[in-house]
Amino acid sequence: MRSEIQDDLLHDGFDREHLWHPYTSTHDPLPTFKVDHASGAVITLADGTELIDGMSSWWCVIHGYSHPVLVEAAKAQIDRMSHVMFGGLTHQPAVDLGKLLLDILPKSMNHIFYADSGSVATEVAMKMAIQAVDDPARTNFATIRSGYHGDTWNAMSVCDPVTGMHGAFGKALPIRYFAPSPECRFDEEWNPAAYEPMRRLLDENAGSIAGVILEPIVQGAGGMRFYHPQYLRELRKQCDELGIILIFDEIATGFGRTGKLFACEHAGVEPDIMLLGKCITGGFMTFAAVAASKKVADRISSSQAGVIMHGPTFMGNPLACAVAVASTRLLLESPWQERIERISEIMRERLAEARDWPCTADVRVLGGIGVVELKQYIDNVGDFQKLCVEEGVWIRPFAHNAYIMPPFLAVSDEQVEKLCDALLRIIKKLYCK
Ligand SMILES: *Cc1c(COP(=O)(O)O)cnc(C)c1O
Repeated sequence: MRSEIQDDLLHDGFDREHLWHPYTSTHDPLPTFKVDHASGAVITLADGTELIDGMSSWWCVIHGYSHPVLVEAAKAQIDRMSHVMFGGLTHQPAVDLGKLLLDILPKSMNHIFYADSGSVATEVAMKMAIQAVDDPARTNFATIRSGYHGDTWNAMSVCDPVTGMHGAFGKALPIRYFAPSPECRFDEEWNPAAYEPMRRLLDENAGSIAGVILEPIVQGAGGMRFYHPQYLRELRKQCDELGIILIFDEIATGFGRTGKLFACEHAGVEPDIMLLGKCITGGFMTFAAVAASKKVADRISSSQAGVIMHGPTFMGNPLACAVAVASTRLLLESPWQERIERISEIMRERLAEARDWPCTADVRVLGGIGVVELKQYIDNVGDFQKLCVEEGVWIRPFAHNAYIMPPFLAVSDEQVEKLCDALLRIIKKLYCK
């Protein structure tokens, strides 16, 4: 049992009284545990408790925490400059990162806009689509349900309307077109009926739609769903026919997480605009990028405005660019595919037994993502996380999903096994009594 002193160390009173944490109430905040440091795949709490990280800090960590190569890249850049404005100035880290990204992105990607976070990247991409279409009648967007694209205004408007932010913000949000979430699973045989609702939606509303935005293959924070690659091929074809800009949000899926460098490679389909974030700096710091085809860039440049109308203060931040270059090189030099496959295998083996439990609805694994979907909504995240700390793991469930997404180049096989076993024990204790 923890002593009171240890409890003080772990749960800061000031934090509890004055700091907002994501999606929590100030009246009855969820417990927050104080972290002292993190290294590799282990997060160490203020009282010395070690937790194996199963979340990659909301899916952005690849190489583990405090990786010496990333730390060194950041230090070297700090000694030169941590920031200069990107208006009228440029620098080597921005150029190096641009070259590196264009080497690995789908061939049609040709121009890169550096943004500060994933949500901002979503805003920029939607603005790009409007400017590229440049038609006052076509300013709306279509997407699929169970999506997540960030917490800023327009990003919220294309998140799932039920599980997303529409409940709290309702009429304040622009109204978008929502097709059902693709019904055909990633590993099933393709069922052409799965695309028909989107086909009808686009056919009927093409006159008012500038772009379609969706997460390719893996829908993350909107429901952890994995859908069939053929859906994206059908969508690409139809967007071409109707002159609709196709935006792939690869903020969660990019940089190897699904077993391909980018999830759209599962389908062999290229978007017009692609969003990168999260893993772009290996989880070291906030940064994002919007890549666009030459066609999109040309159309924006010949539109009424003639320029892309966005320019964040910290655009192209040199420190973030330098770390992103180091992280991406490190990833490309690593046996990342082998590691993802192995982690996948372990999760498939270890999580399989939960498939038959009365409390579970589904167990699914794709790449470095393992999901146990429960029949019930998980409304006791605080209890869940206390058990995690007792088990020496860090997992944070949402809605019906308890899942593992570890920093794939840092975790050992044994750590993945421990994460899986702890997850199942916690589920059993809380929901499958
Ligand atoms: C996390 C996420 C975002 C938002 O990124 P932030 O950096 O949190 O603003 C957008 N799209 C997807 C698919 C994401 O997973």
